Amino acid sequence: MKLKSLFAQEGLRIVEKEPLARHTTLRVGGVADFFFAPENYFELLRGVTLAEEMGLPLTFLGGGSNLLVRDGGVRGLVVSLRAMRSFSREGDLLEAEAGAFVPEILSFCATCGLSGLEFLAGVPATIGGAVVMNAGAFGQEMKDVLTEVTVLENGAFRTFKVEELPFSYRSWGGPEKALVVKAKLRLFSSSPEEVRGKMSRFLAQRKHKQPLRQQTAGCVFKNPAEAPAGYLIEKAGLKGCVCGQAAISRKHANFIVNLGGARASEVLSLMDRAKEEVFKAFGIELSEEVRVVGEA
Ligand SMILES: Cc1cc2nc3c(=O)[nH]c(=O)nc-3n(C[C@H](O)[C@H](O)[C@H](O)COP(=O)(O)OP(=O)(O)OC[C@H]3O[C@@H](n4cnc5c(N)ncnc54)[C@H](O)[C@@H]3O)c2cc1C
Repeated sequence: MKLKSLFAQEGLRIVEKEPLARHTTLRVGGVADFFFAPENYFELLRGVTLAEEMGLPLTFLGGGSNLLVRDGGVRGLVVSLRAMRSFSREGDLLEAEAGAFVPEILSFCATCGLSGLEFLAGVPATIGGAVVMNAGAFGQEMKDVLTEVTVLENGAFRTFKVEELPFSYRSWGGPEKALVVKAKLRLFSSSPEEVRGKMSRFLAQRKHKQPLRQQTAGCVFKNPAEAPAGYLIEKAGLKGCVCGQAAISRKHANFIVNLGGARASEVLSLMDRAKEEVFKAFGIELSEEVRVVGEA
């Protein structure tokens, strides 16, 4: 029986050949063979179990703000968490489903004077993606505010205390195939004015340095110990370098921008060029921060 009918029998909806460019901030890449956006834990568990029983490869998608999807698209089932987006507050604790959108959480925090997440102002992530990437800025990271992370792994839900996870720079270190479904964060009470003020200051710094109005996937490379990747790429003479409809940002050389209709192959070719030139000039190997998925 066809996969779509099997899912339909269980009351689950999947879409065939969904363009993934629609679901990433860089807006490039091919289609997902099958795309599934569960609305609750029951649907999520049923859908993921079905896919696993059928041996389909699974790819998880949050806000798509750190993802480069290759032009040939993604085989198997892409699971988007974006419809599981609720969050709630109890005192200084905030509990959020993986698909909760960080900008929405920040606007809630600004309204009720809850402080601790301001460093993520301007980051179009989901909580799940922010946990997995251990998103960070201005000297803070997700691990500093997390208390618990709940995952779905091998058909069962399991909750980790933050101390049980080996977080590091842009990595949560959790089980490789686990799907983050929920997180608890410890924030602290402040005033709406203070929280808003801090967010505005961070956002102003970002706007000054980063191409926030353009289509990007954030920083392309991790910062090596020696120097920031953007500095190295700029010093290697690549700021503004263009390939087709993709370009290394003139504002911040660690961002690649989609000028309109770029192909993933163009972005990848700029990434290769940056790695080559930085290695030639400084003997430093850049490693990707963006997650590259799919087939060429
Ligand atoms: C304008 C802009 C600014 C940015 N600024 C920053 C910054 O300051 N600091 C920073 O660290 N990053 C920054 N980023 C990058 C990006 O926002 C972060 O890496 C973010 O954590 C990615 O979250 P996401 O929900 O978009 O994840 P996605 O891009 O959808 O996914 C990223 C990875 O996590 C996996 N994943 C996503 N959700 C789950 C889940 N629930 N369970 C298991 N795996 C999952 C995906 O499979 C993928 O491997 C920026 C990006 C943009 C576009």
